[in-house]
Amino acid sequence: MRCRKVDFHIESIPGGFENSMIQSFPLIHNDEGRIRLQLWLAFFGWTLLVLLLLLWSLSNEDNEMLESARQEAIDNFKKDQAFRVWATAHGGVYVPVNERTQPSPHLSHIPERDLVTPSGRKLTLMNPAFMLRQMMDEYADLYGIKGRITSLKPLNPNNVPDAWERAALESFERGAKEQFELTDINGDPYLRLIRPMFTTEGCLKCHSHQGYQVGDIRGGVGISVPMKHYLASAAGKKQEIKASLVMIWLAGISAIWFYGIRSRQRLRERKDYEDQIWHQANFDSLTGLSNRNLFLDRLDRALAYAQRQQSMIALLFIDLDRFKDVNDALGHATGDQLLQEAARRLRLCVREMDTVSRLGGDEFTVILPAINEGQSVARVAASILTELSRPFDLAGHETHVSASIGITLYPQDGTDSGMLLQNADTAMYQAKAEGRNTYRFFTWEMNKEAEGRVSLGAALRSALREEEFQLHYQPIIDIADGHIVGAEALIRWDSPRQGQIRPDVFIPVAEESGLIVPIGDWVLQQAALDLEQWDRAGLKMELLSVNVSTVQFQLEGFLIKMRDLMKDHPHLPSRLFLEITESVFLDEHREPGTRLGKLREEGIGISIDDFGTGYSSLSYLKRFPVDKIKIDKSFVRDVTSDPEDAALCEAIIAMAHHLGLKVVAEGVETKEQWQFLDESGCDYAQGFYFSRPMTAGAFTDYLGEHLSVKVVG
Ligand code: C2E
Ligand code: CA
Ligand code: CA
Repeated sequence: MRCRKVDFHIESIPGGFENSMIQSFPLIHNDEGRIRLQLWLAFFGWTLLVLLLLLWSLSNEDNEMLESARQEAIDNFKKDQAFRVWATAHGGVYVPVNERTQPSPHLSHIPERDLVTPSGRKLTLMNPAFMLRQMMDEYADLYGIKGRITSLKPLNPNNVPDAWERAALESFERGAKEQFELTDINGDPYLRLIRPMFTTEGCLKCHSHQGYQVGDIRGGVGISVPMKHYLASAAGKKQEIKASLVMIWLAGISAIWFYGIRSRQRLRERKDYEDQIWHQANFDSLTGLSNRNLFLDRLDRALAYAQRQQSMIALLFIDLDRFKDVNDALGHATGDQLLQEAARRLRLCVREMDTVSRLGGDEFTVILPAINEGQSVARVAASILTELSRPFDLAGHETHVSASIGITLYPQDGTDSGMLLQNADTAMYQAKAEGRNTYRFFTWEMNKEAEGRVSLGAALRSALREEEFQLHYQPIIDIADGHIVGAEALIRWDSPRQGQIRPDVFIPVAEESGLIVPIGDWVLQQAALDLEQWDRAGLKMELLSVNVSTVQFQLEGFLIKMRDLMKDHPHLPSRLFLEITESVFLDEHREPGTRLGKLREEGIGISIDDFGTGYSSLSYLKRFPVDKIKIDKSFVRDVTSDPEDAALCEAIIAMAHHLGLKVVAEGVETKEQWQFLDESGCDYAQGFYFSRPMTAGAFTDYLGEHLSVKVVG
């Protein structure tokens, strides 16, 4: 039967897998936001910086261009001044009268304005201003640079200042040294510069009547430099500046972009790393299930939610039965494989919202939040048992395990996670005690038993020292002739504090703690001594069977111990039989075949105990030196009522005989069972039908009475 999905009424529950995952994300979101903000700031900051740099460079370029033009204007001004000084110093120049150089009306007050050379050429005095104006005109025609003299009190109306010149001239009177501006002249761009002109001695010749004195500002000389080529070259340079700044801007943006990508990548890496750490801290690496840490967190959340919603929670504590056997026998790698497969199956049995965890070892838990009745929990538990009891295919071995489940319910079985878990554990132990492969709901009565179990381990330690163990013996009967052939030694523990404790209860505890080794040694010694006593009393049995735990058998020094035992007790060889379970065969590492062979060399026989309940692989019987098999009492019990069990027993007997093995049927309680076994050809029988296990003393009496007479028939 496959697992059924059980439907519950549910609302969304906090603390599920996804929710817990999200816990680690706000940090990342914050960081991503921070990085995005940083990137935007860097982008805007960089763009602004580049823009400012652009504006500054452009204006710088303008200034440089203006400065160059101004320098050109100043150079021309200086040249003008030099000419003017020369001309003024020489009091003007006589030139031939022609169209361009007519006698100046402004110099009519000068008597020697016009001269005639002895050869009759007419010369007229040209004042420096006029001369220079003409030179300037020439210069303007040739090079485009215009020069012009102007004055607030011009002699020549042509020299009347325009508004800008007037303002400049006025500023010179207030002490200014120079003015310049960019302007349009006849639609072309020009830089106009004007500097003051001071009255010199020579000036007075023409201007004294205007009241000037030497050193007075007489006017100004303006120079206009065409700006066309300056502007063109500046425009070219500006273009270059723009292009290079765009490149710089792009380089910066690329760097920011790269930084953004790297930051995000680093953030991702950090997040992945954090996730990994978080995962390691919260998940079981073997099965991928949540671990104890996360389990407790989920349980606490589920409890808080259930408290608010007044709802119910179930906690299942699952422990695999016989896992230790598989682990010991098939090795840890196979054990791990089993755990992984078990985890996978467990997940199949629950809803998405339920939390399946592995607490460690072979212990699992399931949290079922928002359940409404115990019945549905039982269904889940049953489906888990079904799922886990399907055979596991482990490295070619078909392996059977089962599970025991303890269940607690919130709020009735505990209100906090600690109590719920502990009580579920208690209920799980109860399920184990009641035969395994089952589930039990927790009851408060179980707690008392649990308390006892905790102290069991401690009590076991002192039990050996205090000689609280005893061996009881149960006779083994030869079915063919009805006589006793021997006995099985069975340990008994009479604890002064806890009373009689069954081996079923304390042997597993002893195996877990390793105490089974000294206990097992004691059993072997005691059984050997008892057998010796009966021998001496003339009560000689053919065989003595002693139970040996797999833990004990697999121990390194076991062979040596057995050799010593055989040496110390020469009556044992060919009479001592060790009862082992099939799990011994699964331990390929320790080569059970070799070990069994060596035991046989010492004269020790091997019986396979509880045959039929474990792996029951016939190939083992063929491969390993085994003498007897003991059919488990669970099969013998129903041989007279269950045809299947009957057929199974008959088959086991036939097969064992075929392999040359003897068969012991254990748990024979009725005459009918005896008859069935007799008819089936079974070799030996053991059970309450003949006798319960009894103390060594009682068994001595029993032997005395029955050794020479038939027990049955
Ligand atoms: P086992 O080896 O299968 O032992 C047989 C068990 O069946 C014994 O239980 C015995 O009392 C019981 N039994 C015998 N005849 C009948 C019968 O007719 N009907 C029923 N119902 N039961 C019968 P016991 O003594 O309680 O031992 C339980 C188990 O404890 C043993 O099962 C064995 O696995 C383990 N054990 C006992 N003594 C030792 C020991 O010295 N060393 C180790 N390692 N294990 C031991
Ligand atoms: Ca046994
Ligand atoms: Ca048995």
